[in-house]
Amino acid sequence: MDMTSLFDNSYARLPGAFFTRQQPTPVAAPRLVAYNEDLGRLLGLPKMSDTDRAVLFSGNETPLGAEPLAQLYAGHQFGNWNPQLGDGRAILLGEVLGTDGQRRDIQLKGSGPTPYSRMGDGRAWLGPVLREYVVSEAMHALGIPTTRALAATLTGEDIFREGRLPGAVLTRVAASHLRVGTFQVFAHRGETDHLKALTDYAIARHYPDAVGPMGLLRAVCAAQARLIARWMAAGFIHGVMNTDNCAISGETIDYGPCAFMDSYDANRVYSSIDAQGRYAYGNQPRIAVWNMAQFATALIQQMDETDAAIAEATEIVHAMPAQIETAWRAAFGAKIGLADARADDDALIERLLALMQADAADFTNTFDALARGDARDQIIDRAAFEAWHADWQSRTATEKDPRAVMQAANPRIIPRNHRMEEMIAAAVAGDFAPFHRLNAALAQPFDTDDTDLMRPPTRDQEVPATFCG
Ligand code: AMP
Ligand code: MG
Ligand code: MG
Repeated sequence: MDMTSLFDNSYARLPGAFFTRQQPTPVAAPRLVAYNEDLGRLLGLPKMSDTDRAVLFSGNETPLGAEPLAQLYAGHQFGNWNPQLGDGRAILLGEVLGTDGQRRDIQLKGSGPTPYSRMGDGRAWLGPVLREYVVSEAMHALGIPTTRALAATLTGEDIFREGRLPGAVLTRVAASHLRVGTFQVFAHRGETDHLKALTDYAIARHYPDAVGPMGLLRAVCAAQARLIARWMAAGFIHGVMNTDNCAISGETIDYGPCAFMDSYDANRVYSSIDAQGRYAYGNQPRIAVWNMAQFATALIQQMDETDAAIAEATEIVHAMPAQIETAWRAAFGAKIGLADARADDDALIERLLALMQADAADFTNTFDALARGDARDQIIDRAAFEAWHADWQSRTATEKDPRAVMQAANPRIIPRNHRMEEMIAAAVAGDFAPFHRLNAALAQPFDTDDTDLMRPPTRDQEVPATFCG
């Protein structure tokens, strides 16, 4: 396949130390499971048969114009420094300029081992591939910055996790795969020239108005602050906010053990590997700041470490909690119908969350019910809810159209964990109908009447833990 006119691979032109050229490992019997037509069009990809797509997106054939490579990075994993990670099971095919003029990476995930695989097999199984497909596209439909899913293919090979499972490849599309960990690896090695080249590259690619390392830090902090507030407002728990999973672009990246909350609990954790709750729902704002402190530390290595530079970096990172708070207030204010929430509205928002926490109310359905006119049934403590409701009504009485604000801010459906598990079990058994149904419904999260998908899990259906895959 000749796609030379499509690709423009800027990362492959960076110093060789940034990556290793690596072809995907061919698979036995590629089969297309899903292809995202809208995204394909946005990228300007040519029309192709499903057979050709399967061959392409399983990595069995590298199109002309692609320059496959695995990227180097490092990172703090659960707070512990790991000096070398890198794409262990992902391969960047290259970059394309979309019909909207945006540059995006096309990456295969699960496409075979690379020099960074360590003990891993370089593969992914169908479950996490379909999870990432559904959740990342759902996030996009919610208006939350995210990497996207272009295709999912079966490899025709089994892999070994908890038993034999069908292997699969996800084709992921991202504004870039630059991570905090990409900066950290060169900072840690004292490779200042590489760090400078990376800084220039990130500025040119994502924040052309930013000036110098501290300008980049300022821009990324702002993007992360906005992103984390959006996660909080959607009840989204990322699950592995390691610095290698923190994208410079401000997109959500790496859908491993992530989850949307059903019943509200500020301390909720789903990830099976997060025993300490480091990445619990309510910790996400703090962790975002911690990650930006690591980013600042890495960026500073290229500056003459004057007191002024350190003071500036400190000031920028210290400003972040207030930025998150402002973005949080805007997002949660909208959830209760306030187009322009003020600091003194925080108490009203927090009182509702406290009621929801006490009653383990369903996060999505409580806000949806409020937007549709009656949230009484969501809260068991009627008296406390009535008191809140009266105050809420007097506050929203002066708002122009609180209902419209709420309906635009509160999704009716989210990718609920029990639905995702059900979808994966069906897919493993060869039935992809639940996958397609979820995808179609979640594309319209704000105006659907799919009461079935709105239903929270029963006790039996509740998913206690999610896994990395
Ligand atoms: P994650 O926690 O998903 O961000 O992954 C952390 C690191 O482990 C990254 O460098 C991944 O590329 C690598 N990794 C995860 N799964 C595999 C696998 N099956 N084979 C090789 N490397 C992997
Ligand atoms: Mg990762
Ligand atoms: Mg992962």
